[in-house]
Amino acid sequence: MSENIRRQIEDLRTELHQHNYNYYTLDRPTISDFEFDEKLRRLAELEATHPEFYDATSPTLRVGGGVTKNFPTVEHEYRMFSLDNSYNFDDIDDWYNRVVRGLGTEEVEFVAELKFDGTSISLKYTDGKLTEAVTRGDGFRGDEITANVRTISSVPLKLHGDYPAEFFIRGEIYLTHIAFEKINAARAEEGYEAFMNPRNTASGSLKLQDSAEVRRRGLSAVLYQLIGKELPAESHWELLQKARNWGFHTSDFAKLCKNIDEVRAFIEHWETSRHDLDFDIDGIVIKVNNLRQQQLLGYTSKSPRWAMAYKYKAETAETDLLSVSYQVGRTGTVTPVANLAPVLLAGTVVKRASLHNADIILKLDLHEGDRVYVEKGGEIIPKITGVNTAVRNPDPKPVAYATHCPECGTELIRNEGEAAHFCPNEWHCPPQVVGKMIHFVSRKAMNIANLGSETIEQLYRAGLVKTVADFYHLTKEQLLPLERMAERSALNIINGIDKSREVPFERVLYALGIRHVGETVAKKLAKNFSSIDELKNASVDELIQVEDVGLRIAESVRDFFANEGNAAMVEDLRKQGVQLQRSEQSQEPMSDTLGGKTFLFTGKLSLFTRDEAEALVEQHGGRNISAVSKNLNYLVAGEKAGSKLKKAKEIGTVQILDEQQFLDMIQ
Ligand code: AMP
Ligand code: ZN
Repeated sequence: MSENIRRQIEDLRTELHQHNYNYYTLDRPTISDFEFDEKLRRLAELEATHPEFYDATSPTLRVGGGVTKNFPTVEHEYRMFSLDNSYNFDDIDDWYNRVVRGLGTEEVEFVAELKFDGTSISLKYTDGKLTEAVTRGDGFRGDEITANVRTISSVPLKLHGDYPAEFFIRGEIYLTHIAFEKINAARAEEGYEAFMNPRNTASGSLKLQDSAEVRRRGLSAVLYQLIGKELPAESHWELLQKARNWGFHTSDFAKLCKNIDEVRAFIEHWETSRHDLDFDIDGIVIKVNNLRQQQLLGYTSKSPRWAMAYKYKAETAETDLLSVSYQVGRTGTVTPVANLAPVLLAGTVVKRASLHNADIILKLDLHEGDRVYVEKGGEIIPKITGVNTAVRNPDPKPVAYATHCPECGTELIRNEGEAAHFCPNEWHCPPQVVGKMIHFVSRKAMNIANLGSETIEQLYRAGLVKTVADFYHLTKEQLLPLERMAERSALNIINGIDKSREVPFERVLYALGIRHVGETVAKKLAKNFSSIDELKNASVDELIQVEDVGLRIAESVRDFFANEGNAAMVEDLRKQGVQLQRSEQSQEPMSDTLGGKTFLFTGKLSLFTRDEAEALVEQHGGRNISAVSKNLNYLVAGEKAGSKLKKAKEIGTVQILDEQQFLDMIQ
């Protein structure tokens, strides 16, 4: 029986590793995403019920879930140097001459690569398994962020082929433009401000404490340099090919150049073509190909003599600022946008630029009718980087931030500590009301297919729905008179709405669109509060006990329920039979071994993630609590447990277990 399960688990792992490789490295998937997810889910299930078959390289660990409070500092075995920069072909020629002088009469080849604009990382592989991931830090020592890097799909957890027993590989972690836009769209949804650029967002994401959140950021990795004692090749180029065969995602755009002219052609080609890439590069890196020659040339105190970066200048255009307009999102957040006289920039005509918030406008010292410089970074919509003050109108008027909502005329508010303004008229400001409804029916929320945003807008304008609860009062007869509405589609909508009464509590909570409560936070709240009434009665202090819930979210939850309109809407939803409490069947207990006992996990866990551990406690009848107190029965301490362990020891009545002892309890 258990042998059979072990085999199933191993087969699924092998299969999923192969599919990951096909997808991320070869870019040739052989199964659908859906099938992949099904297999992954099946594996996760087996692993959850059989923790004895834990494996640190399992594809399921990519989903993240472990929480790291601070990242240990690690000494780099090989220093991570930076690169010398050049900005024109004269600099390249100088470098080339130094290389030739250094090597005497030898022939020299180069590898030209894109300079990915992200954050660098060093990965260690031991016996083909990812064992450590460290940031560059100051080049001598960096932060160990293995748990977070594990969640990045294009980083292989396990290699295949004839890889060396131990080596390091370096590369860049970055965000594609699509991934970056997606993050910002999600942030706007939850009422947070947009991030400014992909590079900082990538490096910031690597330092998040919750690896599940890192996973959601959708980071990419490209690996470009192998380091180790005995590398199985004589040239950098060969190593790149080998690394790819072992399962690494290496750049598709590296080129072996026979001479420096080919390098120049490469640089010229990408000067314009870089704008077609789905990620940012800030230049080209040129490397001497032969490893022995690299060694001969050696290093300066700061950088290798065998490599050189060529930096592109960011493309800038100058144009007139015509006006500033304001967009209002579902949570009322206002985003200013600059309307520009159309201008050609990096191959596209630009008419708008994002201004982010009032502080940015102040910092730019923007005046009406200014000539502004626009630059294209990672965002699809470019940004204003400065003002040409030499040609400013005499007696210019500073751009004054809107005082009233452009959609409903209500006076705007700016909360202390927040950069964004918002419109407080949540019940009658059209983009907010309609936006909330669109969010309510969306796939991850109530998933009412067929009810599209156009229909919602029509319903709102016709006065048929004022809050999301009104959807449940709709009749087919009310829908039929709407534009382009047929009998069949009206019926589908009514059925879809009816079916949404079964959507589980955690998704209803997300669907309500409480400011700052995204999918993850909704899940965590639903895990800690069994019904909407419990949540409504929770104090801010109780709310911030929940993992991932800070003061800002806690206050937002409290404000939501304190609002009479919301309270009435919730009551209406309740009458309509929407799930406002956890269904008990969703957490069928496996045993009652831990019945009535309380648990808390601390430190770095290695046998399971924190989420998995907490799920096990619940499945066996126990309860998770979030702080060390007299009410705590067991503290399960992983590696490097800190203050919680100390406090538990002081209390004296708390039993302290290691991970294995915990597993023994439930077996
Ligand atoms: P700099 O930070 O300007 O000294 O440039 C060095 C950095 O460029 C390295 O630390 C890497 O993070 C980054 N980089 C991006 N792409 C490459 C590449 N193909 N080869 C080497 N370094 C790269
Ligand atoms: Zn408004």
